[in-house]
Parts: sequence; C-alpha cells; structure tokens
Amino acid sequence: MTTTTLEAVPCYLCGSHASREFVHAEDDLGGTPGRFRFVRCLNCNLAYQNPRVPLDRIGAYYDDTYIAHRKKRNWGVLTPLFERAMNKLDEDKAAIVARYIDLVPGTEVLDVGCAVGTFLTHLKKTRGIRATGVDFKDLSSAATLQDVEFHCGLFYDADLAAGRFDLVTMWHFLEHDYDPMRSLATAHRVMRPGATLVIEVPRLDSRTFSWFGDRWPGLQAPQHTVLYDRESLLRAVQRCGFEVVDYLPYGAFPAYFYLFTGAAFWLLKGRGLNLDKAIVPYFVGQLLALPLTLFERRLNLAMQTVICRRPL
Ligand SMILES: [Zn+2]
Repeated sequence: MTTTTLEAVPCYLCGSHASREFVHAEDDLGGTPGRFRFVRCLNCNLAYQNPRVPLDRIGAYYDDTYIAHRKKRNWGVLTPLFERAMNKLDEDKAAIVARYIDLVPGTEVLDVGCAVGTFLTHLKKTRGIRATGVDFKDLSSAATLQDVEFHCGLFYDADLAAGRFDLVTMWHFLEHDYDPMRSLATAHRVMRPGATLVIEVPRLDSRTFSWFGDRWPGLQAPQHTVLYDRESLLRAVQRCGFEVVDYLPYGAFPAYFYLFTGAAFWLLKGRGLNLDKAIVPYFVGQLLALPLTLFERRLNLAMQTVICRRPL
C-alpha cells in the first residue's frame, strides 16, 4: 500500500480537519508492509487513523484468515480449547446483555458486525430470540448464519425497518467503522424507543496501551479507523441521541488476548503473527497471566463497554 492510495479524512466526531500526529502503527497481526498514522483531532481530541485505506480497498485486509471470520477451526489437539474459548466469548457477551434487558422468545436482536454469527445463534438457542445480523463481508455460507436474517453490506445501507429492534449489539464493530456517527444514527433509527444498545470497543486510555504503545493490539492497523477512550465513546453515543445507562471498564472480549498479542507484536516487530503457531504459547500464557486477568474488571486492562438506551 503506497501513501498515494490512502485518503485524508476529517474528524469523525466534529468534522475538523485540524489534527496532530499521535502514533504510527504497522499491521502487526497480518504482517502486510506499511506504516499507518493515527492522529488526534485538535478540536475534540478524538484519535483516528488519518490518512486511511479507502473503503473499496480495505476488504483485502479482512481475508479468510482474519480471526473473527474464521469458519474452519482446526487447531489439532487444541481444537476443543479453542472452541471452548469461542463459546465462552458468546456466553460472556450474553451475560453482559442479560444484566440490562430481558431476553425472551421473540425479542428482536440485531448484531452489527456479526461475522459468522455465533453470538446470535447462541442467543437464539438459549433464549429463543429473533436473530438479525449485518456484516460487510459476505459470510452467508457459514453454517452458524443459516438461522439468522443476514444482511451483507454496510450497516447504514441495510434494509431494516425503523423502530424494529429491542436490542442492538456492536461487539468490536465501531472501531472499524468508516462512518461511526452514521452507524449510531442508523442504530437509533432501527431501535424501538426504550431499546438497548451495547457497544464494546478497545479502550485507548487503558493499561495495555500505556504498556505497549505503538505495538498495542487495539491499534490493529489498518482495520481500526477510530481509537476511543472513555470520553470520546460516551460523547459519540450521546451526540446521536442515546442515554448512557452504564459504562464498564472491561468487555466480554478477554483482556488476555491483548496481553498476549501485545507481547508477541513487540517481539515480532511487524512481521505478523501466525495464529496457528501461536496457539500453544497462547494457552500456556493464559495460565501464567491468570493472577492479572482474574481481576481484569478492576484493572482497566484493555476493553470498554457502554450500554445505552434510546429514550422513550
Ligand atoms: Zn474532532
């Protein structure tokens, strides 16, 4: 990717073109060459990638090895461990959601950036909800999406009726978005008054960012367009007309993933992480990191979740 193919972009929150350099990052996960620049808006302090890879070229960075889009999960003898970790992620998402909304048969749930849809199928199986998912990548052939109303494309282009949903979730979606304010406005439109919106994103003002800096996994260049701290995330949802119900300094996504990949990225210096080779160290390290991760809800390690309501 040469710099001439990148596009300059104004601040996603306030539209200002004035910014200062913040951090340069590489594609530490995929290992494709290139350095990507994040800036801070001089007007509102939002951190975002600028210039960015144009929308029509970013799809190449979400190939079939992209972790959230993996359909085949063959890790040899460790397959059951991996499957259990993925199931636990869906269970942890459901546990967060269930604190704020009663999920009953017929509850209309929309997952934006649903990938292969395992969270939706988990809720459908355990709670009988009606499942709808949107993803810009066509994953409709995935077995886990067969019982889901799947819309392929950009969220704000999806043909979804106004006022339909009781719950909208965005698990690690908004930091990838090319127009987050438009997506939040779309969520507001398709939610019924009183409905709940749950957003989880990496937290810029977290310990792992202060430890890993330009190798922080939350930078995930070039896929991550925006880096939210607590303040900018809350400002974004409030500006789109949502009431903040709660804010959590953690998410369903394990902080350990950032501890492991942050250390690996620091060692690999941009050469890319081969997940198939890393799987054994990953599970060994998980045991070693247990003293830290047991308290991750209090340590502000990596993630944040905001729970919002569309006012009545
Ligand atoms: Zn701004």
